[in-house]
Amino acid sequence: MHREGKGKKGPHGRMWGRVGPFEEDRIDELLELIWTLREEGVSDLDQLLRTTEDVEAQAILRLMIRDGLFEVEGNRMVLRDRGEEKARDLIRRHRLTERLLHEIFEISEEEVEEEACKLEHILSPAVTDSVCTFLGHPPTCIHGKTIPRGECCFKFTKEIKPFVIPLEELGLGENGRIVFIAPKSHQRLDRLSALGIVPGSTVRMHQKNPSHVLQIGETMLALDKEIVRDIYVKRV
Ligand SMILES: [Zn+2]
Ligand SMILES: [Zn+2]
Repeated sequence: MHREGKGKKGPHGRMWGRVGPFEEDRIDELLELIWTLREEGVSDLDQLLRTTEDVEAQAILRLMIRDGLFEVEGNRMVLRDRGEEKARDLIRRHRLTERLLHEIFEISEEEVEEEACKLEHILSPAVTDSVCTFLGHPPTCIHGKTIPRGECCFKFTKEIKPFVIPLEELGLGENGRIVFIAPKSHQRLDRLSALGIVPGSTVRMHQKNPSHVLQIGETMLALDKEIVRDIYVKRV
């Protein structure tokens, strides 16, 4: 996976000095890179070639064109349907894996990147949706990038007991650490962070009716139901 965290070259870059081995992985890597560049508004081929750690990217790209994964129009890269779908899955798996490692096993952000690169290839589609459900269908990875939605995100299921829960499900007197906030507007996010409601902070549920009263550190806060609905926590 194209590294989302701080720059530095990973082991992949060095490993890939030959043609032939790891062809599938190298295709995956480039698909993910095309996707992440596109998120940044970049779709020109030159930029991809400057960014990739694969010294033989051009050869791999030719294979991808042959396989109908993507095409080049002038200097612009366009994912074809199959490539789009494959990239979407890879990105989804990678970013969910990051969340899983970080939230559940409390692996540091730096280490997560390395591990996620290995594990993303192991998750099957069904397991991926279970992980997503378990984590409360997080909208973003730990770097704040969008996690593409899966089928599980649109249908309600009770089969898996989620580890990350909506804040409103915390019982009175229970503590939760905020995992992510999915606000309807940016303005709201700014307001919340001004109050200290940011991922990583711990809140205690003091009252649920008629409004929610939460304790953060020494501060008591009354919050509207609508806002509370945007906040997801894990019990601590
Ligand atoms: Zn990430
Ligand atoms: Zn989901």
